[in-house]
Amino acid sequence: MPLKKITLILLLIILLPALFFTGYELNSLSANEKLLSEIYRRQLDAILFSVNQYAWDRVNNWVSKLNLAFIEARDHSDRTIQFMLQKFLSENRNLLAAFLLNTQTQSFVLVQVGGEDAALRQILTEAFETQQETTARLERMKRSGYRKIESIMLPAFDEQDSENLALIFVSDLSRADIAGLVLNSDSFVQQVLSPKLQEAAGQEFILAVFQENRSQPIFSTAPIQVQESKQQKNLWLFPNHFLGIRPQGETFEELARSRFYRSLLLIIILDFVLILSAWVVYRNIKREMELSRLKSDFVSNVSHELKTPLSLIRMFAETLEMGRARSERKKKEYYHIIRQETERLTHLVNNLLNFSRMEAGKKQYQLEMANLNTVVEKVLKNYRVHLQEQGFDVSLRLSEDLPETAVDAESISEALLNLLDNAVKYSNSRKFIAIKTGVDQGDLFLEVEDHGIGIAPEQHDKIFDKFYRVSTGLVHNTKGSGLGLTLVRHIMEAHGGDVIVKSRPGEGSCFRLVFRNAAQTQNEDK
Ligand code: ADP
Repeated sequence: MPLKKITLILLLIILLPALFFTGYELNSLSANEKLLSEIYRRQLDAILFSVNQYAWDRVNNWVSKLNLAFIEARDHSDRTIQFMLQKFLSENRNLLAAFLLNTQTQSFVLVQVGGEDAALRQILTEAFETQQETTARLERMKRSGYRKIESIMLPAFDEQDSENLALIFVSDLSRADIAGLVLNSDSFVQQVLSPKLQEAAGQEFILAVFQENRSQPIFSTAPIQVQESKQQKNLWLFPNHFLGIRPQGETFEELARSRFYRSLLLIIILDFVLILSAWVVYRNIKREMELSRLKSDFVSNVSHELKTPLSLIRMFAETLEMGRARSERKKKEYYHIIRQETERLTHLVNNLLNFSRMEAGKKQYQLEMANLNTVVEKVLKNYRVHLQEQGFDVSLRLSEDLPETAVDAESISEALLNLLDNAVKYSNSRKFIAIKTGVDQGDLFLEVEDHGIGIAPEQHDKIFDKFYRVSTGLVHNTKGSGLGLTLVRHIMEAHGGDVIVKSRPGEGSCFRLVFRNAAQTQNEDK
């Protein structure tokens, strides 16, 4: 399956659902938050409503009682009414005064707790002069059968520093005069309303009553500033007064916001994990596909590598068998070709066997003290002629004072043969090979350098992978198994060493086998 198709499938089965899910979740998250906020807002409203209702009920209760007293009064003379109001005030604490205003004569019957004070009468007279519209409205409503209570703010009197409130309504007297109760708004809130505020606030909320232009609350169930209240509602009966509420501890918005960010973080992590796994799956598939492509190339490469020498051997063996080679020189040449091709086959089969042992973890190395120069010379004894026949100029620079080191001589020969074989295969017209041994920064090295086609830097790591072959240029036409350098690296790792490649396209390559600290080990041993 082409990689593009797999990428598309991965995109479809992992990334698209992840994206869809993220979009959906984000959308429903904010919708949920909105819904919860709305429900919460209504709950706060309901609490504030219940407080307002309570205040109204208390006042209404007074009004009903007073009206009842009016109805039950023996006569409607000022004296009787005064007496009745006195009785009413003594029975209902929290009130400062009660009065009845004769709307025709505009005269008051006023009874005040602790004896009448001229100041209040003055205040009330002035207030009613400006409130004629209110009283007319109350009367109109009363005629249509509806009793309304209005409130009028009165300035402070009687050495109090807070404002008072007159609650006025049309009395149930036959004369339909305006009756009223005077109370101190702060005391009402602090004494009458406070138990209800405590009850409504419970453990979860802070409730407070504020008055406009005052930053401190008149009463609050816990310390609170006016700007801290999350929701506010006017107190129906008290002009300029309002209720404020907020939850104890974190507000709902803060909770909702932190919940939103937590969910967002979770979604991001989830998406990240999904993308990461899609990437890992993609990489694995890509690697597997690459490997299977390399394997199939390998089979065709190796078949070709086997076929070429076999057909040459067969052809020359047949020629010799049939006696077609007349001269001794020709015969010798044919024998030589047969031997050379057999060696090539042996090298290939050795590589294959070693590779399969290496893959199975069965390749064993026997390290013995030896001189690298000896190993090189042994290999070159057989191989030099071959190199020269191919037209190579071989430069041998062996370090004279090279210490011995622990090596598996046979494997190192194999590694060297592979490097030489590559140098031959991947050289064009500049046929030059330099073999060098030496000590560099305490490490022994064996180097094979050529002036061949070179290797692009981005390929330097890959060429050591199994089956990997650079698939451009000359390499494309040169057959190989893609196992040579894999084996070289495996051999060097078994020696605790390394293979270092230095190469540039068009400038040639240099492969250096490094035997780590071998020289020092050698010295310490001595
Ligand atoms: P093979 O030579 O059988 O293809 P190797 O594992 O020996 O396999 O090498 C892997 C690849 O590294 C080669 O296909 C080639 O492209 C590149 N390579 C190795 N040695 C050289 C070299 N001396 N010069 C240029 N390219 C090289």
